[in-house]
Amino acid sequence: MQERYVDCLILGAGPAGLSAALYAKRSGLNCALVDKSAPGGTPSNYTEIENYLGFSKIQGCELCDKFEQHIDEFKIQKYPFEEIQNIDLISDTKTVETLENKFFAKSVIIAMGAQNKKLGIKGEEENIGKGVSYCAVCDGAFYKDKIVAVIGGGNSALEEAMYLTKFAKTVYLIHRRESFRADKIIQQRLKQNDKIKIITNSVPVEIMAATRVEGLKIQNTVNDEIQTIELDGVFPYIGLKPNTEMFVHQLKLDKYGFIETSCNMETNIKGVYAAGDIRNTPLRQVITAVSDGAVAAIEASKYLETINDGGKKAYESVSI
Ligand SMILES: Cc1cc2nc3c(=O)[nH]c(=O)nc-3n(C[C@H](O)[C@H](O)[C@H](O)COP(=O)(O)OP(=O)(O)OC[C@H]3O[C@@H](n4cnc5c(N)ncnc54)[C@H](O)[C@@H]3O)c2cc1C
Repeated sequence: MQERYVDCLILGAGPAGLSAALYAKRSGLNCALVDKSAPGGTPSNYTEIENYLGFSKIQGCELCDKFEQHIDEFKIQKYPFEEIQNIDLISDTKTVETLENKFFAKSVIIAMGAQNKKLGIKGEEENIGKGVSYCAVCDGAFYKDKIVAVIGGGNSALEEAMYLTKFAKTVYLIHRRESFRADKIIQQRLKQNDKIKIITNSVPVEIMAATRVEGLKIQNTVNDEIQTIELDGVFPYIGLKPNTEMFVHQLKLDKYGFIETSCNMETNIKGVYAAGDIRNTPLRQVITAVSDGAVAAIEASKYLETINDGGKKAYESVSI
């Protein structure tokens, strides 16, 4: 394992982490980005983005490529495909270990995002990859002329349901409430798509499968009636679970597990910041994630100037 010393270590290379890296490097910090996967984060896995300022329509992966190309101009150190194993944020020098490297950092920006929540019903876990999927872009093409269901009522659920109609012959959209919380413009588009069949006031109770998914049992929340739908795939989009398990004993989390921050992205530990979907933000979008990343990096830079041996002087003297 190699030891590496940085002023600012950024955990996660999605929109928040990439933006933090850009602002940290341009502030003169010796920074590094670590990600368990390729840089880009969640947007690499969905189709179009229509609400990122400056692009009326852009593929998620194309936007992520542009982000990465931008930070590459600044020769920022990247450690892709390195999953974080151990982390100590409490000591003055923070340590973060992957299988390959041990990082010593004066400040840390956590930008590890969130993942789709599971339904927690019978048949879900054991059929992941056999008809249960959390990524329409990754798996949609396997459902050509098949029947699938999307579970959820927010923007992600509705957008993914519409995306799946490119392949599937029927897409059931199952939502536990009467009305959707998704943006009105998305709801209007959904209603014009005749491959989508909307079932409201219903919750999934069991995914049925022999060797792969064959059906979904749903329960009406008004009259408790149970109905079985024959289908080939189930795509749950019922909200997010933050990637904060490794921080529970070190950072203050809100009741849903998101990291609590100030509006300057500071956590309860000095020198440790959180940005993007992983924090207690009112809006989880690409545009807010990149904004958070920028604020966190500037705050980290100010913090480093205040610590005795730190800041930009350390940047000049440290080589890794
Ligand atoms: C289906 C769907 C559709 C969406 N559509 C839109 C849209 O149209 N417009 C919009 O603005 N937003 C959209 N969003 C939301 C948007 O994707 C997020 O708000 C944004 O990606 C948050 O950026 P982030 O950097 O905080 O997190 P992420 O993009 O999730 O990036 C987190 C990064 O951390 C890494 N990571 C996680 N755990 C570890 C670990 N243990 N070790 C190392 N690395 C780790 C991950 O690999 C990932 O690269 C959508 C989300 C979904 C799920």
